[in-house]
Amino acid sequence: MITRHRLRWRIQHWLENRVPGLLTCAEFQQTLDDYIDGALGRAGRMIVDIHLKTCPTCRRYMSAYRKVRDIAPRALDTDETKALGEIPEDLVLAIIMARKAQPDA
Ligand SMILES: [Zn+2]
Repeated sequence: MITRHRLRWRIQHWLENRVPGLLTCAEFQQTLDDYIDGALGRAGRMIVDIHLKTCPTCRRYMSAYRKVRDIAPRALDTDETKALGEIPEDLVLAIIMARKAQPDA
């Protein structure tokens, strides 16, 4: 038995593939960066907005994607040299000794 949610999803994707001007989910994902950055024109933005109104999957995707875009630059700001300096030397030596003890090392 098909659920209401599944039926809605099938109808939506059937329409997206046949009605000119509607985005598929894959096309939506390709335009997402430009949409978030405000780089789309008025018509492009409207087309994405229509997709967002009709596709809960892409709404969730965009929400998660925005969070990743916000977090990722901060993760790369970590000073690796400083972090390496905080590793106890006896731990580093223990790892080196353990690797040397392995026959394939
Ligand atoms: Zn979608």
